[in-house]
Amino acid sequence: MKPVTHIDPQPWMMAPESVAVMAALHAGETPDSDALVALFVGGCVRDSLLGRPVGDIDIATVLAPEEVSNRLQAADLKVVPTGLAHGTVTAVAEGKPFEITTLRVDVRTDGRRATVSFTNDWAADAARRDFTVNALFADSAGAIFDPVGGLADIKARRIRFVGDAEQRIREDVLRLLRFFRFYAQFGAAPPDRDAIAACAKLADLLPTLSNERVATELFKLLAAPDPATTMTLMSANGVLRHFLPEAQEIDRLAALVTVDGIVDHADPLRRLAAGLKIDATGADAIADRLRLSNADRARLAKLVESAGRFNRDMSDPARRATLYRLGADLWRDRVLIDWAEEIALGTPQNRHTTDGWRELYELPEEWTAPVFPVQGNDVLALGVPAGPAVGRYLAQIEAWWIDGGFVANRAACLDRLSEVIGKD
Ligand code: ATP
Ligand code: MG
Repeated sequence: MKPVTHIDPQPWMMAPESVAVMAALHAGETPDSDALVALFVGGCVRDSLLGRPVGDIDIATVLAPEEVSNRLQAADLKVVPTGLAHGTVTAVAEGKPFEITTLRVDVRTDGRRATVSFTNDWAADAARRDFTVNALFADSAGAIFDPVGGLADIKARRIRFVGDAEQRIREDVLRLLRFFRFYAQFGAAPPDRDAIAACAKLADLLPTLSNERVATELFKLLAAPDPATTMTLMSANGVLRHFLPEAQEIDRLAALVTVDGIVDHADPLRRLAAGLKIDATGADAIADRLRLSNADRARLAKLVESAGRFNRDMSDPARRATLYRLGADLWRDRVLIDWAEEIALGTPQNRHTTDGWRELYELPEEWTAPVFPVQGNDVLALGVPAGPAVGRYLAQIEAWWIDGGFVANRAACLDRLSEVIGKD
């Protein structure tokens, strides 16, 4: 295999940990030998060519997994046998993981996993990869190898399956979601026609995928510059309803994407919430399906609440009371979602509306909620026995303190507390 072009060696290629891993894999090889031993592959090469930030680093090698482990260990690198059956070993160098996979072909696939056999044929390994843009290899000096024509597709920002789209999706249904995810991340319109036709035809296979794999792709899609356009495409091709039927508010998501741009802050979970038409029960079901953390689950539930929507005319005291109760993060979430809702409902937007929402969004920077100056011990000290009554008194005094615009100090709150307890 010969290089088709060269790029400047990238910072991540020259980073000490990458150099250490590559040196370990090449140990004992003749430096000027024509045989390639190990090359960077996949996302890191693709993203470098696209000028996008590089995430994790994957390496392809002709070495068998045991040999990979031996050479890494000989260089004192940590080895984790992550996917030995598929030829993958993870090396950890200076705390950074590198997935090293032996060149392989998939001999049998069932839509979810493959039985593999190893090879030393780089083109065969490229051919088992999902998209041409993901099948480019690079060496540490920036030489680029392109067995399946990925470079031209990178330049055109074209997401194209390696080989027959339908066959490739049947082998592994996750590729269907990956197609839309990569399209959202860096694809240019129009999407590849063969790919879209195959995705539309096979979308009903999506429920066979594990929830974890779906969730990972969904959140990568939501983090893309504009997930709404891609989700509209997924909806139009009957794909969305097979894995996220609740996504019935794509207009509001599209509006949120615009708003994200105005405030320069995007958040995948907030975007998810904006795109869904669900109640609290629906939020719980989605949290289960997407395996959300407890914190994310609670946040999603708050974000889909339709009660108490914000509007730009909220009085100052109402703003502060609401910000105090929600906390700054949830406050900003709600401002952005309700702003998006206003746009999606068709309210004309102008400088006045934008300034109004922006002012709401920035309130946490101008005003910090004070700390409620009374605690449970204060209630106990006034003779209330430990139990639910303590919390009730606290909540009552807190409400009074909030209604009064947070001006009452500790002494005033304690006076009020004695008064209330005395009356009962
Ligand atoms: P990113 O890391 O940005 O999500 P990536 O392309 O690096 O994108 P990984 O999941 O890290 O994705 O996979 C690394 C490489 O392995 C891919 O670039 C591709 O060549 C190959 N690959 C990953 N998943 C599949 C799949 N389902 N089918 C075929 N090849 C795949
Ligand atoms: Mg990757």
